[in-house]
Amino acid sequence: MKYLLSGLALCVATASTQAKQQTKTDTPPLPKNIIMIVADGMGPVYPSAYRFWQDDANTAKVESTIFDKVLVGSSSTTPSSYAKNQAIDGQHTPANSYVTDSAASATALATGVKTYNGAIGVDVHLKPQLTVLEYAKQRGKRTGIAVTSQIVHATPASYIAKNESRRNYNAIADDYLDSTIDGELKADVMLGGGVSYFQREDRNLIAEFSEQGYQYLSDFTQLNKVQSGDKLLGLFAPVAIDNNVDLNYQNPLTQMTKAAVKALDNSNGYFLLVEASQVDWGGHANDMAYAMGEMHDLAMTMEYLHAYVAEHPNTLVVLTADHNTGGMSIGSSGKYNWQPKVINKLSKSPLALAKQLASDELSIDALSSSLGFKLSDSEQSHFVTLRLENQQEALEKQLSKTKTNEKLVTRYYGFIKEIIDLKTGTGWTSTGHTGLDVPVYAFGNGAENFIGHQDNTDIADKIFTLLGKK
Ligand SMILES: [Zn+2]
Repeated sequence: MKYLLSGLALCVATASTQAKQQTKTDTPPLPKNIIMIVADGMGPVYPSAYRFWQDDANTAKVESTIFDKVLVGSSSTTPSSYAKNQAIDGQHTPANSYVTDSAASATALATGVKTYNGAIGVDVHLKPQLTVLEYAKQRGKRTGIAVTSQIVHATPASYIAKNESRRNYNAIADDYLDSTIDGELKADVMLGGGVSYFQREDRNLIAEFSEQGYQYLSDFTQLNKVQSGDKLLGLFAPVAIDNNVDLNYQNPLTQMTKAAVKALDNSNGYFLLVEASQVDWGGHANDMAYAMGEMHDLAMTMEYLHAYVAEHPNTLVVLTADHNTGGMSIGSSGKYNWQPKVINKLSKSPLALAKQLASDELSIDALSSSLGFKLSDSEQSHFVTLRLENQQEALEKQLSKTKTNEKLVTRYYGFIKEIIDLKTGTGWTSTGHTGLDVPVYAFGNGAENFIGHQDNTDIADKIFTLLGKK
């Protein structure tokens, strides 16, 4: 009997263990922390270009990057095929066919709802939509954003604010302070640029945030002193943060992400939105040096988070892009060759060099050493021609001194980029967005949910589920 009983007990115990295991496989535990990263404009060409740029030329093998290690799938990015306020009756002329802007795509990633280009957190009928950040707040998690644009720019705004237009920056800034969830502000940590939208003649939001218990940071060095539990408003530039090349590769996104993670850490978990905002701007400008500088900051952010998740395995990290920008190509004009290391010795970004040239801080003769490669005689003399052309236009059109200088900067910037594109073999098909699918990367608790192809709205739906939404 004794044996029988113990046998029975063993059976029960085994069954119970099996049941536990069963429950475990059926409903895996939800991640405690979720970090969503949007690399604005980062179509699949950018991580490939970054890999080749970083490749160690002394080895035969092309070394893989952090992106290669954590790639899991792809995402389509289309906006709503209905225009703003268009009746949804099944018979419509598609608006914005297949090519999205950052607002519609960020709203899709944040809410799971497709909308028109320009919409911030609202659907085509301007109806406010719940975002994953707001839902995380409702669930008692801490929440934050860390971005390199102004913090009221389309992507971060779509996670916090509701507005019919992404251009209403001041109203979006007001919304960050005026909208609450259960009496609390929606985001505990906000790091990026944008002082000019928060310190205005009609309202001083920085002072109002301070009254709400937020520490105001205005210098990157202050990020080192952040403590867990802090509420932070960090605005490090009047509008956007400077590009990474001109910051001498200080990797502002990596610094802000580290500080945000530290500040948000708590026993109930957090949701953090990180945006590498300016990969897109490099793409719009058709400036591969700019884009690669931003990709490097993103790669360093990913390296940091990969190590963080190894220590905190109950964290999920998802990275995707909202769309592709610029239609960059690796190789162009029929040539089978790409030489990205041409940009390695740039002393400043191409735009900063163009500005220095236009203001005579830098001479055309000295430009070669600032670019880090030798200009040919004909290239050098073309800069002189551009200045003469500019003077001619200014005279004909009676342009002001400021306007004349702006036009000269544009001419010089265009030519510097042209030289870099020729020397590297880089091509471009657009100064805007394109409808290409974008890569999806994920690691940590719940990463398997993002394997394969999905729509950008699916990403929001999966995150809602991982936050416990039924
Ligand atoms: Zn864009």
